Amino acid sequence: HSGFVAIVGRPNVGKSTFLNRVVGQKVAIMSNKAQTTRNKIQGIYTTEHSQIVFIDTPGIHKPQNKLDEFMMNSATSALNEVDAVLFMVSAKDRMGAGDTFIIDQLKKVKQPVYLIVNKIDTVHPNDLAPFVEQYQAELDFAQVFPISALQGNNVDELLATLNQNL
Ligand code: GDP
Ligand code: MG
Repeated sequence: HSGFVAIVGRPNVGKSTFLNRVVGQKVAIMSNKAQTTRNKIQGIYTTEHSQIVFIDTPGIHKPQNKLDEFMMNSATSALNEVDAVLFMVSAKDRMGAGDTFIIDQLKKVKQPVYLIVNKIDTVHPNDLAPFVEQYQAELDFAQVFPISALQGNNVDELLATLNQNL
């Protein structure tokens, strides 16, 4: 099992924290494939039987100008070149314009999109279901994973599921 997985989400939801936790090797190649010019390869998660290449797509955000718009369009089409997309949100924060903007981009994506609800260490368990339902009302997710990238809760389960499905 191996494949490319993109991580999208508004700033500060915990994308880098998650990647730092799961990724063993950082990738230094910057130019030999079209893939690397449009996406930033963040690192590779490797086990005995599998390899997942994680890609950060920083261009997915509300465009502020023409250059942003150009970057955005290429970042969005890049999402169709990966095998799965992780949409990370923060349970600590309310759903905002930054989230709904990304959701609108994800509606065009044909690959499975997983909802990763990060920072569950900061909320009461009872508050989780209504939080998740807000997002599920906007998009049909392949699966939902509540995690804490900081403390590691449910991260192994997420990786195991990705492995199985790639
Ligand atoms: P990014 O902008 O999406 O890459 O977010 P970062 O990984 O830089 O994280 C932004 C902030 O959220 C940092 O201060 C992290 O320590 C914090 N953070 C990330 N994951 C968690 C988590 O699971 N729980 C808590 N409480 N804080 C987190
Ligand atoms: Mg980051």
